[in-house]
Amino acid sequence: MSLLSVIVPCYNEEQNVADFYHELVKNDAFFRENEIDMELLYIDDGSRDKTVEEVKKLRELDERVHLVSFSRNFGKEAAMYAGLKKSHGDYVVIMDVDLQDPPSLLPQMFGYLKEGYDSVATRRVSRKGEPPVRSFFARLFYRLMKKISKTEIMDGARDYRLMTRQMVDAILAMEEYNRFTKGIFGWVGFQTKWIEYENVERVKGETKWNFWKLFIYSLDGIAAFSTVPLMIASLMGVLFCLFAFVFIIFIIVRKILFGDPVAGWPSLVCIISLASGVQLFCLGIVGQYLAKTYMEVKKRPIYLVKEEI
Ligand code: UDP
Ligand code: MG
Repeated sequence: MSLLSVIVPCYNEEQNVADFYHELVKNDAFFRENEIDMELLYIDDGSRDKTVEEVKKLRELDERVHLVSFSRNFGKEAAMYAGLKKSHGDYVVIMDVDLQDPPSLLPQMFGYLKEGYDSVATRRVSRKGEPPVRSFFARLFYRLMKKISKTEIMDGARDYRLMTRQMVDAILAMEEYNRFTKGIFGWVGFQTKWIEYENVERVKGETKWNFWKLFIYSLDGIAAFSTVPLMIASLMGVLFCLFAFVFIIFIIVRKILFGDPVAGWPSLVCIISLASGVQLFCLGIVGQYLAKTYMEVKKRPIYLVKEEI
């Protein structure tokens, strides 16, 4: 027998916990045929509704259900990390509880593992049902990442992914505090098969992400997997030095040829404000990386467990 760990991060998902379970166990026949044992780990990310109670109810029906409950909301990244840490399976899969990651794809995904892939990942090909502005910025983010990061980050990739123990251990070896799993998956490498599917809308409840949260998350992703912004800051410095150099020569020549009329105050103001703007911008970039480094150096735990069953 081999063991499959199903990791499900939940944050205020009382409506979805049971539905997800019932959808997942539709694969039980497949699991039996292929001699796969299953453990289902609900990671409660500090929910304030009845999520924990719902999981406990399921636990009474089925011993395979486990619960890890955080002391507060630590974010999905922390929940996924905790799930990977607590999993024992030879295979591990991460899924959203809102059924946007259809459990019915599992047999197909296992098929690819048998073919020798280390990991089977999913990406959605359409962004149907998503606000156009969000789609636009999402696409922009992936295009930008492709240019500024050496790590492959697939457009439309979901966190829904089946992995071998070897790959999970590789991911767990990355103990960074600022986690951007989409990048970590790419960074560790291994043979990955991509499955594409049409976007499925959330069954019940509401998305935990708004535009602003996603925007901050994308900046985290950039800082975690690229140092190009720092290079841009340096490049801007060089450019401004060059400009200043040419300008100084121009001023000197003008002074020699035409004397020193007291003029040029507006241009001076423009130059000073532009230069100080660029300086602040670059300082901000450096500050971002410094802040990330600060958090890493503190070595705070990524999550805190309050209850575990
Ligand atoms: N989630 C979580 N912690 C959070 C936010 C979300 O564990 O702080 C879980 C959530 O319960 C769900 C998954 O992450 O299972 C994806 O969240 P959501 O459906 O809100 O994101 P979307 O699908 O809209 O990107
Ligand atoms: Mg969702």
